[in-house]
Amino acid sequence: MSPAGSPVVDLRSDTLTRPTPGMLEAMVTAEVGDDVYGEDPEINALEAEVAALFGHEAALFCPTGSMSNVLGVRSLVPAGQEIICDSLAHIVRAELGSHAMVGQVTTRTWSSERGAVEADAALAMAVPDAGPYFVSTAAIAIEDTHNFGGGTVQAPDELRRLRAGAQALGLSVHLDGARLWNAHVVTGVSFQEYGSFADTISVCLSKGLGAPVGSVLVSSAERIAEARIWRKRLGGGMRQAGVLAAAGRYALKHNIERLATDHQHAQSIAVALAGVDSSIVEPELVQTNIVATTWPSAAAAKAFIAGCTAAGIRVGAVGSRVVRLVTHLDIDEALAGRAVDELPVIAKQALTA
Ligand SMILES: *Cc1c(COP(=O)(O)O)cnc(C)c1O
Repeated sequence: MSPAGSPVVDLRSDTLTRPTPGMLEAMVTAEVGDDVYGEDPEINALEAEVAALFGHEAALFCPTGSMSNVLGVRSLVPAGQEIICDSLAHIVRAELGSHAMVGQVTTRTWSSERGAVEADAALAMAVPDAGPYFVSTAAIAIEDTHNFGGGTVQAPDELRRLRAGAQALGLSVHLDGARLWNAHVVTGVSFQEYGSFADTISVCLSKGLGAPVGSVLVSSAERIAEARIWRKRLGGGMRQAGVLAAAGRYALKHNIERLATDHQHAQSIAVALAGVDSSIVEPELVQTNIVATTWPSAAAAKAFIAGCTAAGIRVGAVGSRVVRLVTHLDIDEALAGRAVDELPVIAKQALTA
């Protein structure tokens, strides 16, 4: 509860959602078995459904998106070779070195505007078969939507061009699609087509879709069979996890199209803050459910965060001058309205403090 006794408006992340009564009902009634034996019907159904959704042969239910990314990348990149990606990519910023430690993979990064992929620039960096003295590039990683880029939606034409160019060079593509659902809602590109852009795809059920736990890795039957071994090796072999898969299946059925509402709420928040000072955020750049705000000084950012906390609104610091606000399933019309009303007042005070 906030100081005024009203519920907290928690905008730190879209991972904060709690299962709804409908989702809990699906979890309670799930038929389960031991998934290490391949006998959990809910997990088997989830894996088959997600594989089919993206037009791939197979899929693997994973406890987290980080594990799913590690399993996907290591299946594409031999030890000692590299995957190239954006310098703000989740795989290099937020997975704590696991691609190096587990996959023995090195990375090289390109710089971008808010995480937007430029196919030609990415392809120009690739060095397949680099010979005995340089690191060979085995794969390219893309992220859609781009988290630290501010929820940026990748341009479908760039993804098409990247895929064609990578294929011509004999390179694989990994798609970190933790929030690919949000991208789909914006672009209208079908999941089948998104599936055609990459060899391995990781999607999260626990972000905007609202499931408590779980990600899914999608790829060929051969790669998924190997990833299943590596998941067990890393301690990710789960038993009656069908209760979690049931939440994921429920989320896929009910919570994809409604992401448009989260995007509208984010847009309203951005417009409200830009109305105070246009340097805080450009609403045109807010494409999905993430509002990245930039403050003139670390002190102003701190004052904004403190003002929010005092008003029962929680926001996330992601740099000394950058504060992130993320809308999600648990931010309903009323809570979003409170944010839109109160944030400009707090921002004004923070800028003049
Ligand atoms: C959240 C996220 C992941 C996975 O995170 P986990 O917390 O490990 O589930 C991967 N990539 C991106 C872009 C993300 O936002």
